[in-house]
Amino acid sequence: MIQFVLSNDEYQYDIHSLVKAFYPKDQIKFVMEEDLEESAKLQIYLHLNQDMIQMKAMQGIKEIYSMQEFADSGNKSSYRNILKRMIYNGLSLITKKELPWGTLTGVRPTKLALDRLEQGISRAEIENFMSREYLCSKEKIDTSLQVAEREITLLQEMDYKNGYSVYIGIPFCPSTCLYCSFTSYSSEKFGNLIQKYLEALYQEITFAGTCFRDKKLTTVYFGGGTPTTLSEVQLDLLLQHVENTFDFTYVKEYTVEAGRPDSITYDKLRVLKKHGVSRISINPQTMRQKTLDLIGRKHTVEQVVDAFHMARQLGHENINMDIIIGLPGEDKDDVAYTLREIDKLQPDSLTVHTLALKRAARLNTEKSNYEDLTPTDTKAMLHLTEEYTKKAGYLPYYLYRQKNMAGNLENIGYAKFGKEGLYNILIMEEKQTIVALGAGASSKFVFPDENRLERVENVKSLKDYIERINEMIERKRSFLLHNELLSM
Ligand code: SF4
Repeated sequence: MIQFVLSNDEYQYDIHSLVKAFYPKDQIKFVMEEDLEESAKLQIYLHLNQDMIQMKAMQGIKEIYSMQEFADSGNKSSYRNILKRMIYNGLSLITKKELPWGTLTGVRPTKLALDRLEQGISRAEIENFMSREYLCSKEKIDTSLQVAEREITLLQEMDYKNGYSVYIGIPFCPSTCLYCSFTSYSSEKFGNLIQKYLEALYQEITFAGTCFRDKKLTTVYFGGGTPTTLSEVQLDLLLQHVENTFDFTYVKEYTVEAGRPDSITYDKLRVLKKHGVSRISINPQTMRQKTLDLIGRKHTVEQVVDAFHMARQLGHENINMDIIIGLPGEDKDDVAYTLREIDKLQPDSLTVHTLALKRAARLNTEKSNYEDLTPTDTKAMLHLTEEYTKKAGYLPYYLYRQKNMAGNLENIGYAKFGKEGLYNILIMEEKQTIVALGAGASSKFVFPDENRLERVENVKSLKDYIERINEMIERKRSFLLHNELLSM
């Protein structure tokens, strides 16, 4: 356990995220001085004065680190950065660890690079800034800049400022993966609710079609869950309803995450092709069968390969594959094996996720069963994926981080030139309004002139979504009316 005595609570969240990155397995507690326990691994005192930050780290009665620095509490962002650097330097010295992203704990490190490139700031200045202010490693700064430069080019090719995108969530999957934290219901248990769900979803889609008539629809994305859990007839009717509702004239990308290979059939892929779906995902996560069995994917490696070949046969020319590094029981050799198998298929894009331990996921709630299987070399695994993608001609084009990621690393999307997932950039960089429909869907409304972003969320529970669909629609309508985005 790591204990903190803080003179004020304002930066507790920032401190917690940073310390967790150094001590992922330890509990972090904020306590009063009189409640400090000698048995704690580390006791840290932080005095956050108006013009000075002081830190002292103790192990029992032994002081092992102390530091103080001037800081102006009137400038919150600079004060926060000084505080985080002080903690980082202390913990780095104590643990002899360095974090690849330094003190950056937010989810979108590329935004720092992207915003500055858009302002005309030079590469060298951005490198200096990220290194000085956030102590990011050179390697991560290079990746951020490479991603941001690719994003700028892709954004320039889209009239995203006059557009919006639509996300439609299908919260059903054939079974629930061990690490899942999404809104997802197993079709085995909840299959009887699929039709009712679709009826509610149709209503929400119809309403969304009445908004933004003066804006161009840029991308449409079906995610979840696994949209191909629906039958081919359900898929056919749903896509038809979407195409009848929205004007597709300017749509640059139409994605359906087929995702789980055990949900994919020839007929469903044919339906997607018939509707002009331009990008699909077939996600193995790993090509090791033993891991697939362990993580509850309930499909075989052969099913991945077969689904991929079927899709190619039907003319799907933009196929993404997702893999996860840091899966229980896997090591570097397993990742290398997965990459060799994927190389035989040559997907158009490859998204590399680093496993994030989410609170609600079974991998966390049942963690005692998997603790011995936690990989220790995620950094080396990620490095393998970087080497592979470079050699195979993929370029990094989007990047994001989540809380509690193995090795404090990142998720990164690679694509062959021109095969990037545009929706991923739009949502990650928060460049465009995304109207999100379905259970658990969260719409993001972007007001670029005011540098403002607002979320309107739907309920997560399937039952609630079905029963309260009118309320979900009303929620969006009143938000749009209030913000003068919808005429009466
Ligand atoms: S396929 Fe994705 S959404 Fe479905 S259970 Fe697995 S992790 Fe969750």
